[in-house]
Formats: sequence, structure tokens, C-alpha cells
Amino acid sequence: MNDCIVCRIAAGCIPSRKVYEDDLVLAFLDISPVSPGHVLVVPKEHFNPLWNVPDEVLARLLSVAKRIAKAQMDSALAPDGVNLFQTNGTAAGQTVFHVHFHVIPRKNGDGAGWTFPEGAYASPEEADATAAAIAAALEKA
Ligand code: AMP
Ligand code: ZN
Repeated sequence: MNDCIVCRIAAGCIPSRKVYEDDLVLAFLDISPVSPGHVLVVPKEHFNPLWNVPDEVLARLLSVAKRIAKAQMDSALAPDGVNLFQTNGTAAGQTVFHVHFHVIPRKNGDGAGWTFPEGAYASPEEADATAAAIAAALEKA
């Protein structure tokens, strides 16, 4: 067993408040929730970061996240909305290095949120070059 906390949860070595499980995916309450009902959806197998997750597993993760978001909306939690959030790398706020999707119920005016610096391109040419750079990398991916 590796020392990944999510692998340990998936193996049942660390307790969790499970809300869903199938052959590929597990979902459980976040231990330090942004709001009541904050769920983490994880692959049972260790993958990190997002771009190393096989498409079949990713499709299941997103399908389960969708169902959980709807279940949160339909539950007694009765949120006004739901955030789906995912981090890759320390710079992006990742603290647990096993891919996971946050599914976070939100209430109007709950004050939760993430602050991102306001970005702006120096010029339309810079934005054109940035779009071209990503498109070129995608061609090779
Ligand atoms: P991130 O910052 O995207 O890597 O999020 C990691 C999340 O994992 C945080 O929201 C933590 O509260 C959560 N977390 C860490 N340890 C546990 C645990 N043992 N059980 C449930 N959630 C956890
Ligand atoms: Zn892991």
C-alpha cells in the first residue's frame, strides 16, 4: 500500500463517510467541507494528475459527479447551486495528489468562493498567440 491518503481510503484502511461506490469510483464526504455535503469523487486506482486518467475512468468520474450534484440538489441540503472543482498541481491549490473532483453544494450568499487574480491579455495579438500555442500543443497530444 502506498502512502496516498485516497488510496488508503479506497482500500478501507482510513475511514470515510461514503456516499457512493462502484467498480471504478468512490465518493465520500470531504473531511474539511466548504459547505455541508461537500463530496470528493475519486478513482479507486491511483492516477494523478487529470491528464493521466484513462478516458473510461474519467467518463465514470464525471458521470458520478453529475449524479451526486443532482442528488445534492434533490436532498434535504437543498442548495441553490453546485460547484464542480478539480485541482492539478500545488500552483492550482492541489493538496491531495490523487485525482479528485470536488462536488460542492452552494447557497445564495454563502460567502464561499475562490479568488482568482483578474487576468487580461496585453493585446489581441497576445491572445491570438496564446490560443495558437494551446491549439498547436493539442495537435501533438
Ligand atoms: P485539493 O486541495 O483539491 O487537493 O483537495 C483535497 C481535499 O481533500 C481537501 O478539501 C481536504 O479537506 C480533503 N481531505 C483530506 N484528507 C481527507 C480525508 N481523510 N477524508 C476526506 N477528505 C479529505
Ligand atoms: Zn492514490
